[in-house]
Amino acid sequence: MISDLKRRFPHEPEYIQAVEEVVTSIEEAYNEHPEFERYNLIERLCIPDRIYTFRVSWVDDKGNVRNNMGYRIQHNNAIGPYKGGVRFHSSVNLSILKFLAFEQTFKNSLTTLAMGGAKGGSDFSPRGKSDMEVMRFCQAFMTELWRHIGPDTDVPAGDIGVGGREVGYMYGMYKKMALEFTGTFTGKGLEFGGSKIRPEATGYGNVYFLLEMLKTRGLDLWGKRVAISGSGNVATYTAEKLLELGAKVVSMSDSDGSIYVPEGITREQLDYIFKLKNIYRGRIREFAEEYGCQYFEGERPWHHAVCDIAMPSATQNEIDGDDARALIANGCIAVSEGANMPSTPEAIREFQAAHILYAPGKAANAGGVSVSGLEMAQNSQKLNWSSEEVDRKLKEIMTDIHNQCVKYGKESDGYINYVRGANVAGFMKVAKAMMAQGVL
Ligand code: NDP
Repeated sequence: MISDLKRRFPHEPEYIQAVEEVVTSIEEAYNEHPEFERYNLIERLCIPDRIYTFRVSWVDDKGNVRNNMGYRIQHNNAIGPYKGGVRFHSSVNLSILKFLAFEQTFKNSLTTLAMGGAKGGSDFSPRGKSDMEVMRFCQAFMTELWRHIGPDTDVPAGDIGVGGREVGYMYGMYKKMALEFTGTFTGKGLEFGGSKIRPEATGYGNVYFLLEMLKTRGLDLWGKRVAISGSGNVATYTAEKLLELGAKVVSMSDSDGSIYVPEGITREQLDYIFKLKNIYRGRIREFAEEYGCQYFEGERPWHHAVCDIAMPSATQNEIDGDDARALIANGCIAVSEGANMPSTPEAIREFQAAHILYAPGKAANAGGVSVSGLEMAQNSQKLNWSSEEVDRKLKEIMTDIHNQCVKYGKESDGYINYVRGANVAGFMKVAKAMMAQGVL
């Protein structure tokens, strides 16, 4: 089937990479169900239900008319409405969004909540744009997308380049076009239906998952040195929870370079990064200038940041085989992915061969979409839950996902193959729902 997909989609390497990883790791479980093959289930599960592609025209501050591409991939809705973020980044293309929508389907299944998988985005980059330009772009994007989404149809959220500001502008336009106030977006502001702990959820959830992994080896986070990539939503809230639990955050980065602080950044320094990235929209280099720490232009943290734990939280394929070998050689004992598919297949093989703890994003970063699911539940009930309640539910969900990974991923020598565990657990639920619903 993979060779067939390669032939049909020859210019979509990230999509093929994601499919290949899942299909390889579920093969044994799949073959135990001959009825799946009779219904050609795997191919139906790998190819998205539908894809919308559209032009987004908007006017910049100088009066120039600009055109970007817009996409929404509705991958699978066997277990609930389509659900997945929107990414605004110059690198966005169909291959990247198809891989993300595919992964999202399994991730959402793992959360135990009723959500199908989707993803969308544009090759528009908010970087360097004024607030008004971002607003006009978001509104133009939504004038096309609004007719394809809805609270029980497809519920978008944020991702790279789409934070609270962008969600606010898109939701505002959606509300105007659809003439309704419903939970069609998640990651909304607290004043208009957002859930407490949603901004924190992916980062916090990743740390909760990491704690569960460490527990299997009788370890905890106290004093552990952690290298994080990225300095956006996922990275900063991962760092916040790590500091709270006594770990040391020794590195963070952006697409220009990375900082290294061997003694660990302080809470005050993390606050500086929050402001730098969210208010001033500055670069991580400015942190190094402010605090006089080491800065590595154009480099990711993995070679120079000596760490016990790596939490890649920037983008796909940001840890390659060489990076993985450097991490292992420097004594890294665990990798827990905040980003989606940040490790290449070669890097994953290195981690698993070294028998270090390795959690793929679809399990470790599922906290974000889990709290999005909780936001949808609160919106349906027209209620707001307290931070404590949402955080408690998030912890329960992350523990549950970890348990599913152990159930399906434990090997005969006791090593937990979290990739197989997550893929098989996520796949089985969707597969059974698809079988029950017939060929569609
Ligand atoms: P943000 O836009 O808030 O932050 C992204 C960070 O990663 C920025 O520091 C950015 O640097 C850096 N980055 C982006 N692209 C690259 C690149 N090509 N090379 C190096 N650095 C890069 O995004 P999020 O924090 O929301 O998302 C980060 C990752 O987490 C993504 O993989 C996303 O899919 C995943 N994720 C996010 C969830 C969420 O709830 N937000 C949920 C689950 C997964 P710069 O500022 O220079 O662009």
